[in-house]
Amino acid sequence: MNKLILKPSREKSLKRRHPWVFSGAVEKTGGDPQAGNTIAVHSSDGAFLAYAAYSPKSQIVARAWSFHEADLIDEAFIEKRLAAAIRWRDNIFAGGKTNAARLVHAESDGLPGLIVDRYADTLVVQFLSAGIERWRVAIVAILTRLTGCARIFERSDADVRELEGLTPNTGALLGDAPGQSIEIVENGIRYFVDVEHGQKTGFYLDQRDNRQYVAEQARGRRVLNAFCYTGGFSITALKGGATSVLSIDSSADALALGKRNAEANGIAAESCTWMEADIFKELRTLRDRNQPFDMIVLDPPKFAPTAAHAEKASRAYKDINLYAFKLLAPGGLLVTFSCSGGIGVELFQKIVAGAAADANVEAQIIGRLGAAEDHPVSIHFPEGDYLKGLVVRRTS
Ligand code: SAH
Repeated sequence: MNKLILKPSREKSLKRRHPWVFSGAVEKTGGDPQAGNTIAVHSSDGAFLAYAAYSPKSQIVARAWSFHEADLIDEAFIEKRLAAAIRWRDNIFAGGKTNAARLVHAESDGLPGLIVDRYADTLVVQFLSAGIERWRVAIVAILTRLTGCARIFERSDADVRELEGLTPNTGALLGDAPGQSIEIVENGIRYFVDVEHGQKTGFYLDQRDNRQYVAEQARGRRVLNAFCYTGGFSITALKGGATSVLSIDSSADALALGKRNAEANGIAAESCTWMEADIFKELRTLRDRNQPFDMIVLDPPKFAPTAAHAEKASRAYKDINLYAFKLLAPGGLLVTFSCSGGIGVELFQKIVAGAAADANVEAQIIGRLGAAEDHPVSIHFPEGDYLKGLVVRRTS
């Protein structure tokens, strides 16, 4: 069998069941493995460590499938992993709070590089590693069998594919291309989801519980939803009794769908303003206009995909949080997020604290938010814990 032999004392992370092997840890490659092939990873003294998927173009040269030598990495193995991931989410759907959820969360569900999101009866998949790409045909067949969904759409157009030496791929894998026709219901609110052209797989499912949290806090407040995308936090805030919401995003397509979503939920147009703008500029304009808000949601895109981008990203987070504090009336709530893997929760809190100090406001943390339960974090893979949110109340 094809093999990777690690350098001396580089076996520690695999022994702790972290699934990644970095190219710098490899002493030599045995056999002639091709991208996506299963290889056995051994320590320098020859001990078996894991079966992994080989990805020669990536710095993450292998991603572990299993730490058990007796396992066979075949279709039945993939099916078992998929079935386990899908089955434990049954309770999310059974509870009736949503008909959309993430079914497979990559490494954290033992399937490195695979994302599967369910939107009503449509699945959207992303094959994001060479290892998972190798199994795509089998995965589509297994997903069809396990979920009974009649439509599977591929959105393998995330940047990370390039790091794996893979080109982008999008299109229908089963059934037709849905356009903007897919409708989901989450906590009683209807959303149209553009799985073909929307961001990621079409909707930010990870923010489900946080949208609900915002609904519960919004009564009587004037809300600013910065980086609003298709209006999730805007609509929940208005349904929760917000007096008005200003929603800002740089994407005209996202805003158009946001408006459609507001209408679908019977939101009065006058309580809801949609603005196409760059947040970094618009926050300054609002400050110059002295326009206060009682609640501000800041949910920016990933400024720091990895720790290498942390410094530049920190400045961007500081900037938007600083202006948000300036716009926040005393007693107002800032609900601020970072989905950057490269910014840990401690650093994020430090950045927000620095922003409050520079804005010359007193504030207290009244809540800590994270991704919803269908985005689990494998205990051995802390990188899976990307979304962090702070709820900060301006006291004076
Ligand atoms: N809160 C949303 C998800 C936000 S995703 C939800 O729950 O659905 C981040 C959004 O930021 C995207 O819609 C993207 O178009 C927008 N964006 C990125 N850079 C921006 C900028 N400089 N100014 C305004 N919007 C921006």
